[in-house]
Amino acid sequence: MSSHDHKIHAEHPHAHGPACGHTAIKHGDHLDYLHDGHLHHPHGDHVDEHTIEVSAHNPGACTPDHACGAHDKNHKHGPGCGHEAVPHGDHVDYLVDGHLHHPHGAHCDNHGPVEIVQKAA
Ligand SMILES: [Zn+2]
Ligand SMILES: [Zn+2]
Ligand SMILES: [Zn+2]
Ligand SMILES: [Zn+2]
Ligand SMILES: [Zn+2]
Ligand SMILES: [Zn+2]
Ligand SMILES: [Zn+2]
Repeated sequence: MSSHDHKIHAEHPHAHGPACGHTAIKHGDHLDYLHDGHLHHPHGDHVDEHTIEVSAHNPGACTPDHACGAHDKNHKHGPGCGHEAVPHGDHVDYLVDGHLHHPHGAHCDNHGPVEIVQKAA
């Protein structure tokens, strides 16, 4: 490491944008990109970390009766499960068919809809 290294570029060499290959979702009045379980918001020369707020639109409640059939009942969400991790409040959810799934015991809680603007490549 030389003193000429630029921290921001070293940690985040990828420039998010249209067709960058990451899923883009609508967050308030802007777009964020799902990147390795983080919600990235390009902001000038750096990238902000955003989190979906717990709200009436995206509640953090337990919904034991949620059975949308988007995945097998025995499916275990986790790294590499095929769903993208999304930071929500103080926990991590998974993006399943346009809404947030929160693994909770033997079921998944429905933590509300997310508007997908750009699909992962
Ligand atoms: Zn990207
Ligand atoms: Zn955001
Ligand atoms: Zn639950
Ligand atoms: Zn569901
Ligand atoms: Zn999953
Ligand atoms: Zn959640
Ligand atoms: Zn699920």
